[in-house]
Amino acid sequence: MRIDYHTHHVRCGHAVGELEEYIQSAIAKGLSEIGLSDHMPLLHVDPADYYPEMAMPMEELPRYVEECLRLKEKYSGRIAVRVGLEGDFIEGYEEEIARIVEAYPWDYVIGSVHFLGTWDVTDFRQVHNWEGKNVIDVYETYYDAVCKAAATGLYDYIGHIDAIKRFGYRPEEDATALEDRALKAVAKHGLAIELNAAGIHTAAKEMYPSRRMLERAFALGIPVTYGSDAHHPDRVGQKWEEASAMLKSVGYSQLVTFNGRQRRLADF
Ligand SMILES: [Zn+2]
Ligand SMILES: [Zn+2]
Repeated sequence: MRIDYHTHHVRCGHAVGELEEYIQSAIAKGLSEIGLSDHMPLLHVDPADYYPEMAMPMEELPRYVEECLRLKEKYSGRIAVRVGLEGDFIEGYEEEIARIVEAYPWDYVIGSVHFLGTWDVTDFRQVHNWEGKNVIDVYETYYDAVCKAAATGLYDYIGHIDAIKRFGYRPEEDATALEDRALKAVAKHGLAIELNAAGIHTAAKEMYPSRRMLERAFALGIPVTYGSDAHHPDRVGQKWEEASAMLKSVGYSQLVTFNGRQRRLADF
């Protein structure tokens, strides 16, 4: 079984390609399931007054879901299309996020921490925010947010759980306890995680999460799915061989998949 549960498309403003191109790429690569999971519209900052091209405008959200559902129907029999959302966790905006999560028939919702306040820690235009900060303090704030995201009950799995390493800022101190706390929160609240291949192309030079975290996740019985985080149709399923080899070497023999927010484990 080959799947990919984390993809974007042109609506978000920083990805290339229509939804259908991602599905066709998945079919060409022999995937049995493709998850569409574009970014949730911005809620806590004014899009007109913030960095551009972060996410689809709010008025596009119903059209996004409609198009996903139409494609799911169109391609049924050829590939299982899953309708998802990468739902940012933004502390203090849980009710607004819940409204979006409850308003549509999602197959799954990814809980991703991008924002610490108004700082998107995954945006290359905002890297200057690291200046003058204690790296370990930022890590602590980030992993606190991951724990809170896991506790909301809004999400099916946590996206790129150690994305805070993206720009290569690594604390001198040992961050293991922070990472473990986040994983324990994921386990406690019955969530899964993903192995997200996109980290390979960043300054972190490794997938999300690290092998150490993946081993710890396995020990805690946390199910895992795979995501390319593709922002171009060609990237669908990227680094699958490396990803699946790493998962197997850690001990995983099954991946978790989602349909109507029900999860299922399947051998890969
Ligand atoms: Zn994106
Ligand atoms: Zn993300």
